[in-house]
Amino acid sequence: MVIKTGLVKILSFGFARGMCLYPFVLVGKETELTDQLLTHEKIHLKQQLETLILPFYLLYFLEFLFRFFQYGNFEKAYRNISFEREAYHYESHQDYLDQRKKYAWTGFLAQADPA
Ligand SMILES: [Zn+2]
Repeated sequence: MVIKTGLVKILSFGFARGMCLYPFVLVGKETELTDQLLTHEKIHLKQQLETLILPFYLLYFLEFLFRFFQYGNFEKAYRNISFEREAYHYESHQDYLDQRKKYAWTGFLAQADPA
């Protein structure tokens, strides 16, 4: 279920267009809900389900910290979290959700574009 809310801006410090709080996809009030954004957030829904939801947020935060130390840059750290790498990599592939393998994000831990 997609909800348009100003919470996205507040919770992401003005940073994100959308976010996933299973089972909801939150989208910023002024954000246009494109197929690309919806696919991106649906990939996060699948990631959250397969990590039993709460551990997703813990893993996401821990990897963000790791990437922040790695890159020393907030946006680069965020974009290189393996969950985000997968979501950004496949957000334009509309059929990806049907063929996605479970735990596909683990293939993005070592590099942004796994072979
Ligand atoms: Zn994302």
